[in-house]
Amino acid sequence: MLSLAAALPGQETPVAPYPDNLERLQGDNGFSRGFGDTNHSFSFDWFDSHAHLAWSHYPNLLKGGQIQEVIDRWLGYTGVYHSGRLILLDPYLETMEWAKNDPRVYVFWWLVWEQANQLPEIKRRVEAGLIQGLKLHTGDFRRKENPDYHVMGSEAWHKVYRYCEEADLPVLIHVNEHWGDQAYTYGRGAKKFWARAGYTNQELLDYCLSELVAKHPKVKWILAHMNFQGTETLSALFERYPNLYVDTSIGMFLREYDHLTAAEIEPYRKFCIRWADRIMFGTDVFAYHPLESSYPGSLHNWWLPHYIFISRLGLPQETLDKVTHGTCEAVLGKYLKKMPAEE
Ligand SMILES: [Zn+2]
Repeated sequence: MLSLAAALPGQETPVAPYPDNLERLQGDNGFSRGFGDTNHSFSFDWFDSHAHLAWSHYPNLLKGGQIQEVIDRWLGYTGVYHSGRLILLDPYLETMEWAKNDPRVYVFWWLVWEQANQLPEIKRRVEAGLIQGLKLHTGDFRRKENPDYHVMGSEAWHKVYRYCEEADLPVLIHVNEHWGDQAYTYGRGAKKFWARAGYTNQELLDYCLSELVAKHPKVKWILAHMNFQGTETLSALFERYPNLYVDTSIGMFLREYDHLTAAEIEPYRKFCIRWADRIMFGTDVFAYHPLESSYPGSLHNWWLPHYIFISRLGLPQETLDKVTHGTCEAVLGKYLKKMPAEE
C-alpha cells in the first residue's frame, strides 16, 4: 500500500506518502502500523524564486529597514508553512547592499534594455556579492512607441550574456504576455499592446529562444510565470533546451477553497515529476499599501494559491523537494548563501 507513488485508476486524487510512513509500517514489529498513515509527502522548505519588495511601491523605493519589516512580517505569516528564503527581483543598489548580509535574501538585478552598457557594474556587483542573477522583462517594449524586441539580441547584450555564461549567473526573463485577462490570478491582458505591437507572442518567444537561449547554452534561463504556457508546450521546450527553467508563479495557482479534479491534476503532476529539475516555486509577491498595514495580503493572494496548487498534486517527496527549493538551489549554484545553521 505504500508504493502508491502514482495515481491509481479510480482514485480521486493522487497520493504520495511521507517517506517515514514506511518506517512505522515495518519497524518495531509494526507496533505503530496504521498510525499517521495519512501523512503525505510534504516540503518543509519553500524557496520563493520570484518576489518583488523594494520595487513594489514604485516609483518610491522601499528602504532596507522597510523591506526587512515586510519580509519579517511576510515570513511570519508564511512561516507556519515553512517558508524561509526568497529571490527579490529589484533594480535598486540600496536593496542589494541591504540584502547582501541576509542569508535568506537574494537579489536578481532588474535591468531595462537600455542598460547593456552596465556590464562593468554587473561584474562589480556580482563580485561584491550584491546580486546573484539578472532579471529582464520584455514588458519594457510595451512602453515604447514602436516596440522592437531585437534589442535583446544586440551585440552589447550578447556581451552581457557571455559574461553570465562565464560567471554562471542565472537570468530570469519575463518573455511573453497575456492576450486576454486572467482575473483568477489578478492578471490584466495586453490586447491594446498586441494591437500595435507588430509581432506575436510566438515570434517574440522564437527570437528569444534562438537568439538568447540557444546561443548561450551555459546560461540558466528562467522563464517567469511558466511563460504563460501550458505543460505540453513547456515540456517540448524543456526537451529542446536543456538550459531552460520556469518559475511557477501565476502558472500554478489555486485559490483557497477551490479544488483541482483528478483530470486537472494529472498533466501538472506528470510535468512536475518529469521536469522537477527545471521547475522553481515562485509567487510574484509584492509589498502592500500601506506598508504599515497588517493585512496579510501576501499570504492569501500570493503565497497560499501557489502553495495550495503544488500541495494538491500529490507529488513524490523527491519531486516536491526539488520544486519547492532544490531546483532553485541548483540554479543559484555557487551563489547559494550559507544559512547560519549550516556554518
Ligand atoms: Zn514578477
